[in-house]
Amino acid sequence: EQFKVSLYNKKFIEENMRAAITDNQFLMYLQPKYNIPDSAIIGAEALVRWIDPERGIIPPNEFIPVFEQNGFVVKIDEYIWECAAKCIRHWINEGLPPIPISVNVSRVHLSDSGFVNKLEALIKKYNIPRELLELEITESIENVNINEMIQLAKDSGFRLLMDDFGSGYSSLNTLKSTPFDVLKIDRSFFSSSMESSRGQKIISHTIAMSKDIGLELIAEGVETKEQAEFLSDCGCNSAQGYFYSSPVPVDMFDKLLKNSVLVKTE
Ligand code: C2E
Ligand code: CA
Ligand code: CA
Repeated sequence: EQFKVSLYNKKFIEENMRAAITDNQFLMYLQPKYNIPDSAIIGAEALVRWIDPERGIIPPNEFIPVFEQNGFVVKIDEYIWECAAKCIRHWINEGLPPIPISVNVSRVHLSDSGFVNKLEALIKKYNIPRELLELEITESIENVNINEMIQLAKDSGFRLLMDDFGSGYSSLNTLKSTPFDVLKIDRSFFSSSMESSRGQKIISHTIAMSKDIGLELIAEGVETKEQAEFLSDCGCNSAQGYFYSSPVPVDMFDKLLKNSVLVKTE
């Protein structure tokens, strides 16, 4: 993936990003999270999409890295957080079971405490339970300041998901005293290790250990039935991935959610 030639150069992105936000070219897509045993929807992850009128959908891997460099990611994140809060309010109004939406929090946010106030303001504005707006944060190099910000979000009562667990800098050592509630098992770690019996043991023991120390788990990037069944056999009952659904626009997600409710009450 990292060798893919970028179709949208930095110049195009930086010249068009501001107009794109005022023209509503950024949309929130939702990818459902499922309970493996009964295939019911238990939550969603909010993922940004840039819909350019001429070029079509520009994937986040093309523009998020540029936005992280120039700081614009702060604007995009806040925009998506607001879409998510609005969506939760919409489900409550529609009488749908309000399920949590997890939003991505860029590391750029973690350099000042202001982001928690912004989240607080959204909770008030849309009058939604704060447990429903979950935060996905990627662990990076140990940093006292960043850890303080993460702790601040935790102390304010937000549920925290450790994104991409098992890749990069997130290590077993960070679990000793982590403020995170949920580990999101990274898709790369998962798909490549599933092949060997050693890889399977690493996954199953990671799941067992995490549960033993009181952490919740979800696996991302689940693409096959076998993977879902294996996870469930190991005690991880939550999954997100193409096997179930790719990220979809909100109106399509509402349909999935309504069907999921019907299946559950049948
Ligand atoms: P992420 O947070 O790890 O999000 C999961 C990515 O995995 C999403 O890619 C999703 O579409 C993809 N995915 C889901 N199921 C599968 C599967 O079964 N197989 C495979 N191979 N991939 C799957 P997406 O939407 O292209 O986003 C890429 C990354 O861009 C995200 O990775 C996240 O780091 C970033 N991103 C997306 N939206 C936002 C946002 O609103 N704010 C920030 N700061 N970053 C965002
Ligand atoms: Ca994420
Ligand atoms: Ca992830």
